[in-house]
Amino acid sequence: GSGTETKTKRVLLLKPRGFCAGVVRAIDIVQIALETFGAPIYVRKEIVHNSYVVTDLAKKGAIFVNELDEVPEGARVIYSAHGVSPAVRDRAKERGLKVVDATCPLVTKVHVEAIKFAKQGYSLVLIGHRDHDEIEGTQGEAPDVTQVVSTVQEVADLVVPDPNRVAYLTQTTLSLDEARDMIQALKNKFPNIVGPHSQDICYATENRQVAVKNVAHGADLVLVVGSTNSSNSNRLVEVSKNLDTNSYLIDTADAIRPEWLNGVDTVAVTAGASAPEVLVKDVVEYLQSMGYGSVDEVEVMPENVRFGLPPEIVQAIASAP
Ligand code: SF4
Repeated sequence: GSGTETKTKRVLLLKPRGFCAGVVRAIDIVQIALETFGAPIYVRKEIVHNSYVVTDLAKKGAIFVNELDEVPEGARVIYSAHGVSPAVRDRAKERGLKVVDATCPLVTKVHVEAIKFAKQGYSLVLIGHRDHDEIEGTQGEAPDVTQVVSTVQEVADLVVPDPNRVAYLTQTTLSLDEARDMIQALKNKFPNIVGPHSQDICYATENRQVAVKNVAHGADLVLVVGSTNSSNSNRLVEVSKNLDTNSYLIDTADAIRPEWLNGVDTVAVTAGASAPEVLVKDVVEYLQSMGYGSVDEVEVMPENVRFGLPPEIVQAIASAP
């Protein structure tokens, strides 16, 4: 209507957004491995769940495979940021593969908890998405005693040998709200359940969700840059929709449909933990070309996390000519 014509069309660029420390580290590992060891370098599964990143590294010589059987005996293989099960580690040994492990340290932390609880005789309830690479890896630490649940209903349906010996863990990239509801449901069902000291949802997942929560009510649309198989990116869309602000997940600016912008004055833009900043820049430029003249970065909280490189890579750098 005529009342909205004088409003400024603007972009709110959320911060923190995009790459987390685990993704920066995983991509660095592949690049350094390519530079110091030379091609071919195999990577088991997508190094991080982003099409642009995977295509870019493939161009530089990385060969992405789904399973280790596709890697020639004795070759070098990198494990993705999402981690692997002990069965995969065993298979690598059998095939004499040289392994570089790009598992995010915050995923490894959950593996360590799974091993600890399983050793202590607990039944494990892993809150997460069954088809995700991370869950496959974590569940593999104690497959005989681990059950994966994705909904409160599945919590209600759980059957365990001893309701007094149950422990829970979570995927690192869940919705904070859903995880809270499911943990509460577990606590109601198993009052003696134990869990990690602090939750397993990682800082990057949490911060990006909190940022969306902070601005969603003041925006007409939230665009999330990320690939369709990126768990934490999908959760950002859900967080926004749960606050009644329309939201779409877009791999690149090309995916934006002009009709999404009908009647939209304020667009908030964020990016999942595996989405590169160059793609965010394209989105902002597209919005500017559509009349969104003012672009303001909204920093909801500071974020300054970095992880060290694994020993295989540190040594390779040290012995490089
Ligand atoms: Fe690690 Fe979290 Fe990034 Fe996953 S999203 S790689 S757990 S920091």
